[in-house]
Amino acid sequence: MQKKNIAILGSTGSIGTQALEVIQEHQDKFNVEILTARSNADLLIEQAILFSPKIIVITDKKQAEKVKTALSNTNIKIYSDENSLAEVVQGDNIDIVLTALVGYAGLLPTLNALKAKKTIALANKETLVVAGELVMNLAKKNNCAILPVDSEHSAVFQCLVGENYQQIEKVILTASGGPFRGKTTQDLLYITKAQALKHPNWTMGAKITIDSASLMNKGLEVIEAKWLFELENNQIDVVVHPQSIVHSLVQFKDGSIKAQLGLPDMKLPIQYALGFPDRLTNNFPRFNFLNYPQLTFESPDFNTFKNLSLAFEALKKGGNMPCILNAANEIAVEKFLQDKISFLGMSDLIANAMQKITFIQKPVYEDYVLTDIETRKLAQEYKN
Ligand code: NDP
Ligand code: MG
Repeated sequence: MQKKNIAILGSTGSIGTQALEVIQEHQDKFNVEILTARSNADLLIEQAILFSPKIIVITDKKQAEKVKTALSNTNIKIYSDENSLAEVVQGDNIDIVLTALVGYAGLLPTLNALKAKKTIALANKETLVVAGELVMNLAKKNNCAILPVDSEHSAVFQCLVGENYQQIEKVILTASGGPFRGKTTQDLLYITKAQALKHPNWTMGAKITIDSASLMNKGLEVIEAKWLFELENNQIDVVVHPQSIVHSLVQFKDGSIKAQLGLPDMKLPIQYALGFPDRLTNNFPRFNFLNYPQLTFESPDFNTFKNLSLAFEALKKGGNMPCILNAANEIAVEKFLQDKISFLGMSDLIANAMQKITFIQKPVYEDYVLTDIETRKLAQEYKN
């Protein structure tokens, strides 16, 4: 088998570093062509020395000099100008682009990679939340696969191998419920960022960890699932499953349900996406039913976790509303992490943006760009 050439956008993050661990174990199958980071120069340098990519990008200009000096005796091309992230993904030699950067920043590189007919391994769910229709249409037009890395979507995707998408009755996404499962609104009034950053089952980047605590992550995943699997809004359910063993389920038209199970470890969905359609051998710890005599399921609490309700509202409204939701949420999380707003204040900020930003029923790319800018501006000015 010819080696697959991989570009990792966001190689210094939680997904990026785990992807490199997977690649390290399967050097006969994968070759690292591109690595990118925003500002973590030290780790990027370390990764570049270990994996010898052709190109690296560091978007924070202040860190670029350090990287250039450290790698001056190598042939690695180093870029830091604004457009480089979106340009490098189009290189002839790239087979798969793993989008593992955070937030709206993932959209343009993904669109560009699709224009150049690349396969996408998609971790950056915000891309599909912001502009799912646009992205999926382009992927279809150019015959590109978008392989999910998000564990729930990887589970659904694995359940759908050999099935016809027309025969799906519904998709059931599981949610751990996060660190505040079972809490009341009163309990959540004085939540600190240290409490919110402690996820019970997964270790992830800060933004998605806060999204998991507020259940916005599940809301974003519902929108992501709609586009990935061509679902109607009423075909997506969420069920809370605190053990995070059943990663998600598909119910078919005959009532039969398939689920994908395993220990919570992002390396598995990452490996599945990079290796697809092959399953690669590994020595990850195996799941044993006897260690989990009880797998439990419950309804999500839409009243306490308003972000989940807001995401469903954005899904129903369609147009640029999910883009508004996403931009407002990115600022809300940023402000919460800077102690500028409270945990519950995040939902108020998002609801305010969804009310005030101009709704566009059929947005084109430029509309998303403007919506994102305007929403961020409004959200930055918000006080609670
Ligand atoms: P991290 O914050 O751990 O890593 C993000 C990576 O992207 C880092 O390499 C960071 O560089 C870079 N980056 C961040 N913002 C920008 C930007 N604006 N421009 C350029 N580069 C940027 O995030 P995660 O790995 O946790 O998450 C990545 C994506 O995957 C998110 O969309 C998340 O929702 C999704 N995901 C993550 C899961 C997880 O387990 N972590 C599970 C499922 C989905 P630097 O290090 O220099 O800051
Ligand atoms: Mg997920």
